[in-house]
Amino acid sequence: MSTSVREILVPGCDLVFHVESVLAEETTPFQKIGFYQTQSQGVLMMLDNTVMLTTSDEYVYHEMIAHVPLFAHPNPKRVLVIGGGDLGVLREVLRHPSVEEVHLCEIDGRVIDLSRQFLPWAEAVAIDPRTTLNVGDGFAFLESDDQAGRFDVIITDSTDAVGMQAQEQASRLFTESYFGKVRKALAPGGIVVSQFESAFHNVDFIARNTRLLRELFDVVHPYTATVPTYVGGLWCFYCASDEVNPRHDFRQEDYEQLAESSEFQYFSDAMHRSCFVLPARLQRSIEAQ
Ligand code: SAM
Repeated sequence: MSTSVREILVPGCDLVFHVESVLAEETTPFQKIGFYQTQSQGVLMMLDNTVMLTTSDEYVYHEMIAHVPLFAHPNPKRVLVIGGGDLGVLREVLRHPSVEEVHLCEIDGRVIDLSRQFLPWAEAVAIDPRTTLNVGDGFAFLESDDQAGRFDVIITDSTDAVGMQAQEQASRLFTESYFGKVRKALAPGGIVVSQFESAFHNVDFIARNTRLLRELFDVVHPYTATVPTYVGGLWCFYCASDEVNPRHDFRQEDYEQLAESSEFQYFSDAMHRSCFVLPARLQRSIEAQ
């Protein structure tokens, strides 16, 4: 492994990582995968030259995409993660004692393999008895009838559908037919949540998709979190359901119990309530749909 310090420039912005060593770089039929030991941001994981996570701040994204739906749901038992090959979301889902099984469907098995090798949490959650790892297209996974009405929470933790490194396989996960398949796989009272791109750079995309989701689900609430090493900075997610309203429904007691035993780095009950307040331009764009 080379030990010289190397700078990686993310196209179109001045985000620079000082890399001490290259842990892995390979190209699969789906994407270019890179894992790097950086000088100050821990391990950096990139797909197609786009920052997926750094171990210095990955907890923001993973706590917020998992705990907002999980604490809004009255009793989440069966969870599905589409994408999520770095197993960070899986780690957060498994913190919930009510969760009895988590299925993860990642299109690129090499992302899982390399994450298990280079990300500190990944191996333990991969072998957790409640975990089932599937390698395949999430879109196809949801086609099979045996998923119908099965999941209390479905989390789509995919690569990007917009921007310079948009991926075809990920864009499928932001379509009306995908949202329809997700809806079919939800158990009564189920909640779906997805990463929804940057609340700064992808305002029109978020507004358009919020309108689309509101035609399918009775309750749709975008929410945000600040991820320092994401070029988009303020990252957006959406939470959709027919029966649960995450702005009002929150298992406060269960949260306090879990917060005592397993420290959250970013998520909290106050954060849960405030994250639905959106930047004015994004709010206006959603209302104008
Ligand atoms: N959790 C990280 C973060 O903090 O943003 C990054 C997300 S995770 C690495 C994104 C994963 O989605 C990638 O591993 C990619 O292979 C996977 N993916 C993209 N399209 C997919 C699809 N259609 N079905 C299943 N997985 C997909």
